[in-house]
Amino acid sequence: MKELSIPYKDVKVTSVQGRYVTHKCISPFLAQLSNTHSVEEIGRSVAHNPIHCITMGTGPIRILIWSQMHGNESTTTKAVLDVCHAVLRQDIFFEHLLSSCTLKIIPILNPDGALAYTRVNANGVDLNRDAQRLTQPESKVLRKLYDSFNPHFGFNLHGQRTIFSAGAARKPATVSFLSPAFDVDRNLSPSRVKGMRVIAAMNALLQELVPNQVGRYDDGFNADCVGDAFQMNDTVTLLFEAGHFPGDYEREKTRELIFLSLCRALNTIALEAMDDYSEADYFGIPENQKLYYDLLLRNVQVINPQLSSEQQVGLLYKEVLRNGKIAFIPTKEQMEWHAQQCYGHLELDCANESDLKWLKNKNILQLLR
Ligand SMILES: [Zn+2]
Repeated sequence: MKELSIPYKDVKVTSVQGRYVTHKCISPFLAQLSNTHSVEEIGRSVAHNPIHCITMGTGPIRILIWSQMHGNESTTTKAVLDVCHAVLRQDIFFEHLLSSCTLKIIPILNPDGALAYTRVNANGVDLNRDAQRLTQPESKVLRKLYDSFNPHFGFNLHGQRTIFSAGAARKPATVSFLSPAFDVDRNLSPSRVKGMRVIAAMNALLQELVPNQVGRYDDGFNADCVGDAFQMNDTVTLLFEAGHFPGDYEREKTRELIFLSLCRALNTIALEAMDDYSEADYFGIPENQKLYYDLLLRNVQVINPQLSSEQQVGLLYKEVLRNGKIAFIPTKEQMEWHAQQCYGHLELDCANESDLKWLKNKNILQLLR
């Protein structure tokens, strides 16, 4: 398969960075894109913010891509804009793609959730549980586009929390995938198998870049979830989950990995090369487990003698929107005592002088008392 010809740093949309990504942040890039490609407003959210759709290519294979259905899951939005920019820069990697495929891309499906940095929309509804009832304007916008475009493939782009490991090993699930089920028995249909093979193609690339940091999402069936609902209709639906790369809370490294995954998936589809991979390759990806904390503390009895030396304390950061940026705050509500096996993205020893100083400076010691 051809390689990308333009270095990633030259296609990265640098005007959009970090975790807080809104329709206002992306509008200068959409305006630039609209000089050469179709960028339409296809509907409005509960609070009347615009929902846009970008169209690229003219080929017969139809691919529908939507991101930020959950407002606080912005990493894939950044990556999909980078893909648009690479197309705009006419990377020859995409030459075949644009003649064999037509892409319709919704960069932010939930602009109200994006503004408020919430998973849900302005009515407090999780759009990924609204695929059947279609009670929300955002759900109707997606469904209307789905019905009129009638895609062969759907890319359902999400972000996942820092808690996931790729299997039981000490490896974060930096990227996770799922070819969702179309029935409760989780049977395999030709379209579900196709999805598994495209995921296997992306996994083969990612294993070279971030070995053992790819996870497979649980395939429990829920017809209210958009991916499952489209899969029921025989659309090959792929779930992408952008996760944590050590130290990268802004998710810029993960953004690049999602960009490369998207490029690989699109070209695999354009070249009809998925049969180079098998569903066994997909099932070889370890299932996600919830084994990580942002911070894991040992020897906590040094701070609080009532605690046992057997116990470890795991803390997860709360993501708080402050002055247009996301702050990562350790809180008591998200703290757990654990004796069993788990991992921390940062692991500290309370018996160590410099670790203790760090915890004191971050106001974490008081949480343990
Ligand atoms: Zn999500």
